[in-house]
Amino acid sequence: MPIMGTALDITDKLPRSGTTIFTVMSQLAQEVGAINLSQGFPDFPIDPKLIDLVERAMRDGRNQYAPMAGLPALREAIVGKVDRIYGAEYDAEAEVTVTAGATQALFTAVVALVHPGDEVIIMDPSYDCYAPAVLAVGGIPVHVPLGDELHFDASLVGKAITDRTRVLMINSPHNPGGTVLRRTDLHRIAEMLRGTNIILVSDEVYEHLVYDGLSHASVMAIPELQERSIVVFSFGKVFHATGWKVGYVLAPAKLMKVFRKIHQFNVFSVNTPVQYALAEYLDEPSNYEGLSAFFQAKRDRFADGLRSSRFDLLACEGSYFQVVDFSAISLQDDVTFATELAREHGVAAIPLSPFYASPPREQRLLRFCFAKEDATLDAAIERLCAI
Ligand code: PMP
Ligand code: GLN
Repeated sequence: MPIMGTALDITDKLPRSGTTIFTVMSQLAQEVGAINLSQGFPDFPIDPKLIDLVERAMRDGRNQYAPMAGLPALREAIVGKVDRIYGAEYDAEAEVTVTAGATQALFTAVVALVHPGDEVIIMDPSYDCYAPAVLAVGGIPVHVPLGDELHFDASLVGKAITDRTRVLMINSPHNPGGTVLRRTDLHRIAEMLRGTNIILVSDEVYEHLVYDGLSHASVMAIPELQERSIVVFSFGKVFHATGWKVGYVLAPAKLMKVFRKIHQFNVFSVNTPVQYALAEYLDEPSNYEGLSAFFQAKRDRFADGLRSSRFDLLACEGSYFQVVDFSAISLQDDVTFATELAREHGVAAIPLSPFYASPPREQRLLRFCFAKEDATLDAAIERLCAI
């Protein structure tokens, strides 16, 4: 169909996608001056040490292209970290690639693995970039719901596997759900995938944000899964620097080889001075070890504050998102309610329906980001409790 009256004939690869809900809600928050608990990013500063390290790298002249797969020192630091935490062995040379954030990593993984007509199983609600990546390369997203209260249910996944399934995408801690996978879930996944040719793409960007004594169940800790997985991480979430857009991917050499073929023609390499800084900073475990306690305190502050509101809170086991049910307040759909909440009550949140191919009827859920200064959370709580 001609666009804007020109003779150009352009076929949109993502006709069902508009502007992402994160952009829409953050823009609305800014426009109406609402407290922005929508798009997931911290409103507090990063560690000044990290800024000093980047500055030093820049002044030392580390300003030209980094190696395609990432700075060797950073890849070594990553390998050391996952060995320390998950007992997972990776080769820094062949099995680690530094990416321009997790979004690029996920997109590159899909482009590298999915051929037209291949099926990719995605659990809904799913992070918003998964299905568009699959559609852009001619794959078929097969949407499978999470189970009760947004907890993973392996039996629902099992039913969706066919001989055309190429990839299973999983995410824990879950965005937007705030639930986490257990080791038993991973064992069920291992059983389901045994003997198949299915690759697991595991989005673990919130690995350090797991609460109440639970620990992060990584696919890397289960050798049978590790050998068929591309595992995706983001430094943005770990070091409160979402705007840096630096992340990484771990995968066995055979998988990494095809991943890098696409990566090299997509971004080639990632911001050099930031990689120097991260290499040094990551090597010190105390720089990320306290994250769960830090964010758990924020979750508790926000959740406790909302107890006297009319919002009904779902369990938040990980990530920095609290999901709430607003059925007791309004019977509007979630997008309308979220818009009104920002405009009339001055708090921006993310409605959950955009994370579904077919949103469940009568579901009224919103996601709030609690990665905020205590004063921001307190101000939002006051407004939310007044509704
Ligand atoms: N996956 C999930 C589950 C996310 O929440 C995000 C947002 N941080 C991403 C991927 C993308 O991460 P990045 O900002 O590093 O691209
Ligand atoms: N990951 C962030 C969130 O879930 C948003 C990232 C983005 O805006 N693309 O809110």
